[in-house]
Amino acid sequence: MRRLLYRFPSKMLLPPVMITLTVFLIFTCIGQLNSEEVDSNGYIAYCPCMGRFGNQADQFLGALRFAASVNRTLILPPWVEYRRYETRSVQVSFDTYFKVSEVAKFHRVITMERFMKKLAPTLWPPGKRISFCHSERTYGDKENDCNAKDGNPFESFWDTFNIDFDKSEFFSPLYYETGNAHEIKRWQKRYPGDEYPVLAFTGPPGAFPVQRTDVPLQKYVRWSDKFEKMANDFIAKNIKDKPFIGIHLRNGVDFKRACEYMDSSNNMFASPQCTGYRGEKGKATKETCYPSDKSVVKEVKAEVKRLNAGTVFVATDDRDLIDVMQKAMKKVKFVKQGSPASPHLDLAILGKADHFIGNCISTFTAFAKRERDTKGLSSSFWAFEPKQKKDEL
Ligand code: GDP
Repeated sequence: MRRLLYRFPSKMLLPPVMITLTVFLIFTCIGQLNSEEVDSNGYIAYCPCMGRFGNQADQFLGALRFAASVNRTLILPPWVEYRRYETRSVQVSFDTYFKVSEVAKFHRVITMERFMKKLAPTLWPPGKRISFCHSERTYGDKENDCNAKDGNPFESFWDTFNIDFDKSEFFSPLYYETGNAHEIKRWQKRYPGDEYPVLAFTGPPGAFPVQRTDVPLQKYVRWSDKFEKMANDFIAKNIKDKPFIGIHLRNGVDFKRACEYMDSSNNMFASPQCTGYRGEKGKATKETCYPSDKSVVKEVKAEVKRLNAGTVFVATDDRDLIDVMQKAMKKVKFVKQGSPASPHLDLAILGKADHFIGNCISTFTAFAKRERDTKGLSSSFWAFEPKQKKDEL
């Protein structure tokens, strides 16, 4: 039987019309891969210029909410990191640690690297770059200016992308009140997307600490495949005896000093995560902020017993207390990363423990606590007695 298959005679070349069509399709596909659709509502850029990772992560959630509220695409800034003996901050791409696709499930986002490469040359070229601040930033030498690039990390952050500002804009009396629809309308009216394609803020357009309403946005912050794998590999290799408890010991000198102020103010840094935003869940004390070694041992012991845990994973910025804990719990295995410990890997592992004990005042702890909440995993805090049952935290 003859096969009903049309075949070009072997020596016949493709007809010219098909060649043209193929070339057209290839170029269209390449063009689509390279082109980036412009958001006519505009973009939000900012420097995460306050604090280290935990602080930046708190404010990131606020910035994400703000961008969504004013209906502009959020330019995902790199994380600002400080390395010992380096005078300028180092910028690490957002997607090194987290998945852009997950944040995009909540709102339109683009990494700063991609924005600067694909869109900035036409949408936000040199000569048209305005820095936005609430009011004059007196830190630098120019008067009546945001002085957006004065000091560290301000200068190194914008320098990473060769950004210089041509003008300053004070947005006062507006503020990042995302819960206030009138305020949001005022932002949109004063700064329409066609006239102001990019609102580039000198600092994060988000509250510190994170507002209660923005805490659930944590579910859109998911570890990159690389960090997810590193955490799983670490656990597979080092944490064989389960269940395991993760603990965060924030006991460096900077925190010790900060905790001296706890007596006068029961509210500090991330403390609403345990006390509640109106203090309704309990009271944080100096001991909550900087627990004694004795408290740490006692609480770890109690949790180990409650869960019949085989391993305790220790994350710390300073003293790991492993010797003293090991003496009190001979059968338990204590593990930590080798030195220097990656803060992000510590967090990714803490996010997977069967129970977590952290420092209520620390925003580093707060990141792990929020992530764990999104997965329904339990957490508690050093030297903190919640008004309700511990398990409900
Ligand atoms: P906070 O000061 O505790 O609110 O949290 P931040 O994250 O803003 O600043 C503390 C910084 O100290 C972190 O970003 C880390 O660089 C470092 N750090 C604190 N705790 C740990 C830890 O358990 N492990 C590691 N590797 N680094 C930590």
